[in-house]
Amino acid sequence: MVRPQQITVLGATGSIGRSTLDVLARHPERYQAFALTAFSRLDELERLCIAHRPVFAVVDDAAAASHLQGRLAGAGLSTRVLVGVSGLCEVASHPEVDAVMAAIVGAAGLRPTLAAVEAGKKILLANKEALVMSGGLFMQAVRSSGAVLLPIDSEHNAIFQCLPGDYSRGLAEVGVRRILLTASGGPFREMDATALEQVTPEQACAHPNWSMGRKISVDSASMMNKGLELIEACWLFDARPEQVEVVVHPQSVIHSLVDYVDGSVLAQLGNPDMRTPIAHALAWPQRIASGVDSLDLFSIARLDFQRPDEQRFPCLRLARQAAQAGGDRPALLNAANEVAVAAFLERRIRFTEIASMIGDVLDREAATAVETLGAVLDADARGRAAALQWLAARGR
Ligand code: NAD
Ligand code: MG
Repeated sequence: MVRPQQITVLGATGSIGRSTLDVLARHPERYQAFALTAFSRLDELERLCIAHRPVFAVVDDAAAASHLQGRLAGAGLSTRVLVGVSGLCEVASHPEVDAVMAAIVGAAGLRPTLAAVEAGKKILLANKEALVMSGGLFMQAVRSSGAVLLPIDSEHNAIFQCLPGDYSRGLAEVGVRRILLTASGGPFREMDATALEQVTPEQACAHPNWSMGRKISVDSASMMNKGLELIEACWLFDARPEQVEVVVHPQSVIHSLVDYVDGSVLAQLGNPDMRTPIAHALAWPQRIASGVDSLDLFSIARLDFQRPDEQRFPCLRLARQAAQAGGDRPALLNAANEVAVAAFLERRIRFTEIASMIGDVLDREAATAVETLGAVLDADARGRAAALQWLAARGR
């Protein structure tokens, strides 16, 4: 009997984590959950451990770990519970692991994702913030360890599917003119600038097409998500920012497109359900069932496209500028955005202040190069500190 592939799911209790476990459970002969990790909602982690019987679980602090260890032992499981970043890095790089789903949200995912990269694992990358922060360093680590990096973000997974297998020779070499990165436009696509000032976290988190974690939902509403994805696309596919065009496509049926020099445009379509890119990346280069229904073109009937509006959604412009400037700009942008989104979710700032705060932080902090992990972490810390100062200066 062939041994099932051992999969570590970083961020197992999240939206991507749960979709991943749903796909794994459809193919028990092919995949087994090796480790499941979570930061909060430990009752949910316990439930997932009982359902998937991993070798390891990882939580954030020692008290939570010993509580969970007791509960799992009581349920007859031999799962070992590890703690903190060292625990995350251990299960991401463990010799028995075949693939790692990197689905922690934000900068917190950087170290464990890099640990998986350095161990030469197959990485299923949902945690775009890790790549945005550390771009050059991350891709260099992929090349030197021989890790296999597969994008989970639906757009990047679509682009990957539309590119030829040898695209790493260079986009121009393989005849690519442009990458067309689609964006739903989020819940506020049609809203005017004045109304945007009054929107609530609840409205921002009610995405029309996708059900996601709160941070990425706010990013989708501000279009910072598309900005982060633009930077992500540049690193994944070795593209210049000018080669990536954002196309607003409200139906979220076309997940992105690739424009070739001969005039051919290849697209990947499907229902908006993350289990498709997850199943694609898990089984690549094979195909497996994901539980997602066939696309019904007759019920969709039409597909619309618009240019993004960078006046109403300045986060997209800020991210494009950070992509062009390089160095520490993407890490600072990401750090300031994480602080801004948390403050918006706590109702300490208005939605429109997310972009003001990030713009001010980038203007204030002098640009530096980032060639080491230390420099990336330093840029992240400077971005967070400057963003917190921005809040403090306004009494928020
Ligand atoms: P989520 O908030 O639903 O889940 C996040 C997971 O990370 C949880 O398991 C949480 O416990 C864990 N986590 C949070 N903070 C942590 C910390 N400090 N240390 C360790 N673990 C921590 O988020 P999500 O929507 O599943 O998104 C996860 C990642 O995937 C994000 O980077 C997001 O941008 C990306 N992504 C998500 C979707 C989607 O449809 N949800 C689509 C594309 C990309
Ligand atoms: Mg996406």
